[in-house]
Amino acid sequence: MRKKKRKLKVKKIIAALLIITILILLCLFAYNKYEQDKYRQTTEYKLIEKGYSEDDYKTLKNNLSEEELNKLLNFEYDTKILNLIRIKDFKFDNLERYLNYNETDDLEEVVYLVNMDIDKLDIPYSNKIMSLTKEQFFIKDNLERYINYSNNNSEISTTEVIKDVNSNIDYEYYTNIKDTDLSKDNLIITNKYYKLSSTYVPEDLVSLNGTSYLATRETAEHFKEMTDEAKKLGYTFKINSAYRSYATQESLYNRYLSQHGFAWAEKYSARPGHSEHQTGLAIDMVSASTNFDTFENTKEFEWMQDNAHKYGFILRYDNENQYITGYSYEPWHYRYVGVEAATKIHELGITFEEYYAYYVENGQ
Ligand SMILES: [Zn+2]
Repeated sequence: MRKKKRKLKVKKIIAALLIITILILLCLFAYNKYEQDKYRQTTEYKLIEKGYSEDDYKTLKNNLSEEELNKLLNFEYDTKILNLIRIKDFKFDNLERYLNYNETDDLEEVVYLVNMDIDKLDIPYSNKIMSLTKEQFFIKDNLERYINYSNNNSEISTTEVIKDVNSNIDYEYYTNIKDTDLSKDNLIITNKYYKLSSTYVPEDLVSLNGTSYLATRETAEHFKEMTDEAKKLGYTFKINSAYRSYATQESLYNRYLSQHGFAWAEKYSARPGHSEHQTGLAIDMVSASTNFDTFENTKEFEWMQDNAHKYGFILRYDNENQYITGYSYEPWHYRYVGVEAATKIHELGITFEEYYAYYVENGQ
Protein backbone atom coordinates (compact mmCIF):
# COMPACT_ATOMS: atom_id res chain seq x y z
CA MET A 1 0.00 0.00 0.00
CA ARG A 2 2.71 2.41 0.99
CA LYS A 3 4.86 1.36 -1.90
CA LYS A 4 2.01 1.96 -4.30
CA LYS A 5 1.47 5.42 -2.91
CA ARG A 6 5.14 6.19 -3.25
CA LYS A 7 5.19 4.98 -6.84
CA LEU A 8 2.27 7.20 -7.61
CA LYS A 9 4.04 10.16 -6.09
CA VAL A 10 7.15 9.52 -8.20
CA LYS A 11 5.01 9.24 -11.31
CA LYS A 12 3.34 12.53 -10.49
CA ILE A 13 6.69 14.22 -10.03
CA ILE A 14 7.98 12.85 -13.31
CA ALA A 15 4.82 14.00 -15.06
CA ALA A 16 5.16 17.44 -13.54
CA LEU A 17 8.80 17.64 -14.53
CA LEU A 18 7.91 16.58 -18.03
CA ILE A 19 5.25 19.22 -18.30
CA ILE A 20 7.64 21.84 -16.96
CA THR A 21 10.31 20.74 -19.44
CA ILE A 22 7.85 20.86 -22.29
CA LEU A 23 6.71 24.28 -21.17
CA ILE A 24 10.27 25.51 -20.97
CA LEU A 25 11.01 24.13 -24.41
CA LEU A 26 7.87 25.72 -25.76
CA CYS A 27 8.87 29.02 -24.23
CA LEU A 28 12.35 28.75 -25.67
CA PHE A 29 10.94 27.89 -29.05
CA ALA A 30 8.51 30.74 -28.93
CA TYR A 31 11.22 33.13 -27.84
CA ASN A 32 13.49 31.92 -30.58
CA LYS A 33 10.72 32.33 -33.11
CA TYR A 34 10.01 35.78 -31.77
CA GLU A 35 13.66 36.73 -32.05
CA GLN A 36 13.79 35.33 -35.55
CA ASP A 37 10.70 37.21 -36.61
CA LYS A 38 12.14 40.32 -35.09
CA TYR A 39 15.38 39.89 -37.07
CA ARG A 40 13.36 39.35 -40.24
CA GLN A 41 11.91 42.78 -39.71
CA THR A 42 15.35 44.40 -39.71
CA THR A 43 16.83 46.24 -42.66
CA GLU A 44 19.90 44.05 -42.32
CA TYR A 45 17.88 40.88 -42.91
CA LYS A 46 15.95 42.43 -45.76
CA LEU A 47 19.10 43.64 -47.46
CA ILE A 48 20.76 40.25 -47.10
CA GLU A 49 17.61 38.72 -48.56
CA LYS A 50 18.03 41.07 -51.52
CA GLY A 51 21.44 39.57 -52.21
CA TYR A 52 23.94 41.52 -50.12
CA SER A 53 26.43 39.46 -48.11
CA GLU A 54 27.07 40.18 -44.45
CA ASP A 55 30.29 41.94 -45.43
CA ASP A 56 28.37 44.00 -47.98
CA TYR A 57 25.97 44.97 -45.24
CA LYS A 58 28.86 46.16 -43.09
CA THR A 59 30.05 48.34 -45.97
CA LEU A 60 26.55 49.72 -46.46
CA LYS A 61 26.18 50.43 -42.76
CA ASN A 62 29.53 52.21 -42.63
CA ASN A 63 28.62 54.53 -45.48
CA LEU A 64 24.89 55.11 -45.15
CA SER A 65 22.59 56.43 -42.45
CA GLU A 66 19.79 54.30 -40.98
CA GLU A 67 17.28 56.19 -43.10
CA GLU A 68 19.33 55.67 -46.27
CA LEU A 69 19.68 51.94 -45.53
CA ASN A 70 15.92 51.78 -45.35
CA LYS A 71 15.52 53.64 -48.62
CA LEU A 72 17.99 51.24 -50.20
CA LEU A 73 15.32 48.56 -49.86
CA ASN A 74 13.55 50.23 -52.78
CA PHE A 75 16.50 49.39 -55.02
CA GLU A 76 17.31 46.04 -56.58
CA TYR A 77 20.59 44.46 -55.48
CA ASP A 78 23.39 45.99 -57.52
CA THR A 79 27.13 45.64 -56.89
CA LYS A 80 27.53 49.10 -58.41
CA ILE A 81 25.83 50.53 -55.34
CA LEU A 82 28.58 49.15 -53.11
CA ASN A 83 31.19 50.98 -55.20
CA LEU A 84 29.18 54.17 -55.56
CA ILE A 85 28.65 54.70 -51.84
CA ARG A 86 32.41 54.69 -51.26
CA ILE A 87 32.94 57.64 -53.63
CA LYS A 88 33.68 60.86 -51.79
CA ASP A 89 30.91 63.07 -53.15
CA PHE A 90 28.26 60.35 -53.28
CA LYS A 91 24.81 61.70 -52.49
CA PHE A 92 22.17 59.11 -51.67
CA ASP A 93 19.41 61.24 -53.15
CA ASN A 94 21.11 60.95 -56.54
CA LEU A 95 21.48 57.16 -56.37
CA GLU A 96 18.84 56.35 -58.94
CA ARG A 97 20.35 58.84 -61.37
CA TYR A 98 23.86 57.44 -60.83
CA LEU A 99 22.55 54.00 -61.67
CA ASN A 100 20.78 55.26 -64.77
CA TYR A 101 23.72 57.26 -66.06
CA ASN A 102 25.43 54.55 -68.05
CA GLU A 103 27.46 56.86 -70.27
CA THR A 104 30.76 55.96 -68.62
CA ASP A 105 32.06 53.04 -66.54
CA ASP A 106 34.09 55.38 -64.38
CA LEU A 107 31.84 55.70 -61.35
CA GLU A 108 33.75 58.66 -59.95
CA GLU A 109 32.92 60.50 -63.15
CA VAL A 110 29.32 59.34 -62.90
CA VAL A 111 29.00 60.80 -59.38
CA TYR A 112 30.78 64.01 -60.41
CA LEU A 113 28.69 64.57 -63.54
CA VAL A 114 25.33 63.62 -62.04
CA ASN A 115 26.01 65.89 -59.04
CA MET A 116 26.41 68.64 -61.64
CA ASP A 117 23.09 67.62 -63.24
CA ILE A 118 24.84 66.83 -66.52
CA ASP A 119 22.62 63.74 -66.83
CA LYS A 120 19.61 66.05 -67.10
CA LEU A 121 21.02 67.60 -70.26
CA ASP A 122 20.59 65.79 -73.50
CA ILE A 123 24.31 65.67 -74.25
CA PRO A 124 26.19 62.46 -74.95
CA TYR A 125 29.17 61.82 -72.71
CA SER A 126 32.65 62.53 -74.02
CA ASN A 127 36.08 63.03 -72.47
CA LYS A 128 35.70 66.65 -73.43
CA ILE A 129 32.84 67.10 -70.97
CA MET A 130 35.09 66.16 -68.08
CA SER A 131 37.84 68.58 -69.04
CA LEU A 132 35.35 71.37 -69.71
CA THR A 133 33.65 70.99 -66.34
CA LYS A 134 37.00 71.29 -64.57
CA GLU A 135 37.67 74.69 -66.11
CA GLN A 136 37.64 77.68 -63.76
CA PHE A 137 34.88 79.57 -65.56
CA PHE A 138 32.75 76.61 -66.65
CA ILE A 139 29.04 77.45 -66.87
CA LYS A 140 26.76 74.44 -67.04
CA ASP A 141 24.15 76.14 -69.20
CA ASN A 142 26.75 76.71 -71.88
CA LEU A 143 27.87 73.09 -72.10
CA GLU A 144 26.21 72.32 -75.39
CA ARG A 145 27.69 75.44 -76.95
CA TYR A 146 31.15 74.60 -75.57
CA ILE A 147 30.98 71.20 -77.21
CA ASN A 148 29.75 72.51 -80.56
CA TYR A 149 32.31 75.29 -80.55
CA SER A 150 35.07 72.92 -79.59
CA ASN A 151 34.05 70.48 -82.34
CA ASN A 152 34.20 73.30 -84.88
CA ASN A 153 37.51 74.65 -83.55
CA SER A 154 39.50 71.56 -82.69
CA GLU A 155 42.77 73.48 -82.45
CA ILE A 156 41.84 75.56 -79.43
CA SER A 157 42.18 74.60 -75.77
CA THR A 158 39.26 74.01 -73.43
CA THR A 159 40.24 77.16 -71.53
CA GLU A 160 39.82 79.15 -74.73
CA VAL A 161 36.58 77.38 -75.57
CA ILE A 162 35.15 78.48 -72.20
CA LYS A 163 36.45 82.03 -72.61
CA ASP A 164 35.10 82.43 -76.15
CA VAL A 165 31.68 80.91 -75.55
CA ASN A 166 31.16 82.75 -72.25
CA SER A 167 31.85 85.92 -74.25
CA ASN A 168 29.32 84.78 -76.89
CA ILE A 169 31.80 84.92 -79.74
CA ASP A 170 30.64 81.51 -80.92
CA TYR A 171 27.83 83.65 -82.34
CA GLU A 172 28.35 86.15 -85.14
CA TYR A 173 28.49 89.76 -83.94
CA TYR A 174 25.03 91.31 -83.58
CA THR A 175 23.25 87.95 -83.58
CA ASN A 176 21.49 86.31 -80.61
CA ILE A 177 21.09 89.77 -79.15
CA LYS A 178 19.61 90.05 -75.67
CA ASP A 179 18.30 93.10 -73.88
CA THR A 180 20.72 94.49 -71.33
CA ASP A 181 19.57 93.39 -67.87
CA LEU A 182 19.21 96.74 -66.16
CA SER A 183 18.78 95.17 -62.73
CA LYS A 184 22.54 94.61 -62.66
CA ASP A 185 23.12 98.33 -61.96
CA ASN A 186 26.82 99.15 -62.23
CA LEU A 187 27.43 95.73 -63.76
CA ILE A 188 25.09 96.07 -66.73
CA ILE A 189 26.64 94.93 -69.97
CA THR A 190 26.33 96.47 -73.38
CA ASN A 191 28.21 95.00 -76.31
CA LYS A 192 27.55 93.33 -79.64
CA TYR A 193 25.27 90.78 -77.95
CA TYR A 194 23.51 93.00 -75.42
CA LYS A 195 21.62 96.14 -76.27
CA LEU A 196 19.93 99.03 -74.53
CA SER A 197 16.57 100.29 -75.71
CA SER A 198 16.48 103.51 -77.71
CA THR A 199 14.71 105.19 -74.80
CA TYR A 200 17.14 104.15 -72.08
CA VAL A 201 18.68 107.06 -70.22
CA PRO A 202 20.45 106.53 -66.87
CA GLU A 203 18.44 108.08 -64.01
CA ASP A 204 21.09 110.07 -62.23
CA LEU A 205 23.36 111.68 -64.78
CA VAL A 206 25.62 114.37 -63.33
CA SER A 207 28.54 116.41 -64.53
CA LEU A 208 31.99 114.85 -64.54
CA ASN A 209 34.34 117.11 -62.55
CA GLY A 210 32.30 120.17 -63.45
CA THR A 211 32.60 119.62 -67.21
CA SER A 212 29.75 119.31 -69.67
CA TYR A 213 30.39 115.57 -69.86
CA LEU A 214 27.87 113.42 -68.00
CA ALA A 215 28.01 110.11 -66.15
CA THR A 216 26.00 108.42 -63.40
CA ARG A 217 26.41 109.95 -59.97
CA GLU A 218 28.42 107.01 -58.62
CA THR A 219 30.69 106.99 -61.67
CA ALA A 220 31.27 110.73 -61.32
CA GLU A 221 32.05 110.45 -57.61
CA HIS A 222 34.61 107.72 -58.15
CA PHE A 223 36.05 109.50 -61.17
CA LYS A 224 36.59 112.61 -59.06
CA GLU A 225 38.26 110.62 -56.31
CA MET A 226 40.53 108.98 -58.87
CA THR A 227 41.51 112.12 -60.73
CA ASP A 228 42.04 114.03 -57.46
CA GLU A 229 44.45 111.36 -56.29
CA ALA A 230 46.20 111.38 -59.68
CA LYS A 231 46.49 115.13 -59.55
CA LYS A 232 48.39 114.92 -56.27
CA LEU A 233 50.97 112.87 -58.14
CA GLY A 234 51.08 115.35 -60.99
CA TYR A 235 48.90 113.46 -63.42
CA THR A 236 46.10 115.34 -65.12
CA PHE A 237 43.47 113.97 -67.42
CA LYS A 238 41.02 115.33 -69.88
CA ILE A 239 37.74 113.78 -70.85
CA ASN A 240 36.92 113.20 -74.49
CA SER A 241 33.56 111.57 -74.17
CA ALA A 242 31.26 110.12 -71.49
CA TYR A 243 27.49 109.62 -71.57
CA ARG A 244 26.09 109.54 -75.11
CA SER A 245 22.40 109.22 -75.85
CA TYR A 246 21.01 106.64 -78.26
CA ALA A 247 20.42 109.40 -80.79
CA THR A 248 23.98 110.72 -80.50
CA GLN A 249 25.38 107.23 -80.97
CA GLU A 250 23.10 106.72 -83.96
CA SER A 251 24.37 109.80 -85.71
CA LEU A 252 27.97 108.98 -84.77
CA TYR A 253 27.69 105.47 -86.18
CA ASN A 254 25.99 106.74 -89.32
CA ARG A 255 28.68 109.35 -89.82
CA TYR A 256 31.40 106.67 -89.59
CA LEU A 257 29.38 104.54 -91.94
CA SER A 258 29.13 107.19 -94.64
CA GLN A 259 32.70 108.46 -94.17
CA HIS A 260 34.60 105.19 -93.80
CA GLY A 261 32.28 102.37 -94.83
CA PHE A 262 30.63 99.46 -93.03
CA ALA A 263 33.71 97.49 -91.95
CA TRP A 264 35.36 100.54 -90.43
CA ALA A 265 32.20 101.68 -88.64
CA GLU A 266 31.70 98.19 -87.21
CA LYS A 267 35.25 97.94 -85.97
CA TYR A 268 35.59 101.33 -84.33
CA SER A 269 32.07 102.21 -83.39
CA ALA A 270 29.03 100.61 -81.81
CA ARG A 271 25.63 100.39 -83.39
CA PRO A 272 23.08 102.52 -81.52
CA GLY A 273 21.87 100.72 -78.40
CA HIS A 274 25.10 98.76 -78.24
CA SER A 275 27.40 101.54 -77.04
CA GLU A 276 28.67 101.44 -73.50
CA HIS A 277 28.55 105.25 -73.54
CA GLN A 278 24.75 105.04 -73.33
CA THR A 279 25.04 103.44 -69.88
CA GLY A 280 26.54 106.56 -68.30
CA LEU A 281 29.23 104.29 -66.88
CA ALA A 282 31.89 104.81 -69.56
CA ILE A 283 34.44 107.58 -69.92
CA ASP A 284 36.92 108.23 -72.70
CA MET A 285 39.87 109.96 -71.11
CA VAL A 286 43.46 110.77 -71.96
CA SER A 287 46.20 112.71 -70.22
CA ALA A 288 45.99 116.47 -70.51
CA SER A 289 48.80 116.79 -73.01
CA THR A 290 47.97 113.85 -75.28
CA ASN A 291 45.28 112.55 -77.58
CA PHE A 292 43.86 109.11 -78.32
CA ASP A 293 46.88 107.91 -80.29
CA THR A 294 49.62 108.71 -77.82
CA PHE A 295 47.90 108.25 -74.47
CA GLU A 296 49.10 104.66 -74.25
CA ASN A 297 52.71 105.80 -73.94
CA THR A 298 52.18 108.22 -71.06
CA LYS A 299 52.87 107.94 -67.34
CA GLU A 300 49.22 108.77 -66.82
CA PHE A 301 48.21 105.63 -68.72
CA GLU A 302 50.67 103.58 -66.70
CA TRP A 303 49.18 104.99 -63.51
CA MET A 304 45.68 104.10 -64.70
CA GLN A 305 46.81 100.55 -65.44
CA ASP A 306 47.94 100.13 -61.84
CA ASN A 307 45.27 102.13 -60.04
CA ALA A 308 42.01 102.48 -61.98
CA HIS A 309 40.53 99.36 -60.36
CA LYS A 310 40.97 100.85 -56.89
CA TYR A 311 38.36 103.42 -57.88
CA GLY A 312 36.08 100.93 -59.62
CA PHE A 313 37.24 101.46 -63.21
CA ILE A 314 38.50 98.97 -65.78
CA LEU A 315 40.20 99.39 -69.12
CA ARG A 316 37.30 98.04 -71.13
CA TYR A 317 38.82 97.27 -74.55
CA ASP A 318 42.34 95.96 -74.09
CA ASN A 319 44.86 94.97 -76.71
CA GLU A 320 44.92 91.18 -76.26
CA ASN A 321 41.18 90.63 -76.17
CA GLN A 322 39.97 92.53 -79.21
CA TYR A 323 38.34 89.37 -80.55
CA ILE A 324 36.47 88.94 -77.26
CA THR A 325 35.28 92.51 -76.69
CA GLY A 326 34.60 93.02 -80.39
CA TYR A 327 36.44 96.35 -80.36
CA SER A 328 39.88 97.46 -81.33
CA TYR A 329 42.26 98.47 -78.55
CA GLU A 330 41.10 101.63 -76.79
CA PRO A 331 43.59 102.72 -74.09
CA TRP A 332 41.31 105.68 -73.36
CA HIS A 333 37.98 103.94 -72.72
CA TYR A 334 37.30 103.24 -69.04
CA ARG A 335 34.22 101.65 -67.61
CA TYR A 336 32.93 102.01 -64.08
CA VAL A 337 31.90 98.66 -62.57
CA GLY A 338 32.42 99.33 -58.86
CA VAL A 339 35.53 98.65 -56.78
CA GLU A 340 34.77 95.02 -56.00
CA ALA A 341 34.23 93.93 -59.60
CA ALA A 342 37.05 96.10 -60.93
CA THR A 343 39.47 94.61 -58.43
CA LYS A 344 38.43 91.08 -59.28
CA ILE A 345 38.69 91.75 -63.02
CA HIS A 346 42.11 93.31 -62.48
CA GLU A 347 43.33 90.38 -60.40
CA LEU A 348 41.99 87.70 -62.71
CA GLY A 349 43.13 89.54 -65.84
CA ILE A 350 39.86 88.86 -67.62
CA THR A 351 37.55 90.94 -69.78
CA PHE A 352 34.23 92.32 -68.59
CA GLU A 353 32.53 89.88 -70.98
CA GLU A 354 34.04 86.93 -69.13
CA TYR A 355 33.37 88.48 -65.73
CA TYR A 356 29.77 89.22 -66.61
CA ALA A 357 29.05 85.72 -67.90
CA TYR A 358 30.49 83.93 -64.90
CA TYR A 359 29.99 86.21 -61.92
CA VAL A 360 27.01 88.36 -62.85
CA GLU A 361 24.74 86.45 -65.21
CA ASN A 362 25.58 83.00 -63.91
CA GLY A 363 25.78 84.26 -60.33
CA GLN A 364 28.90 82.37 -59.24
ZN1 LIG B 1 34.61 105.02 -75.44
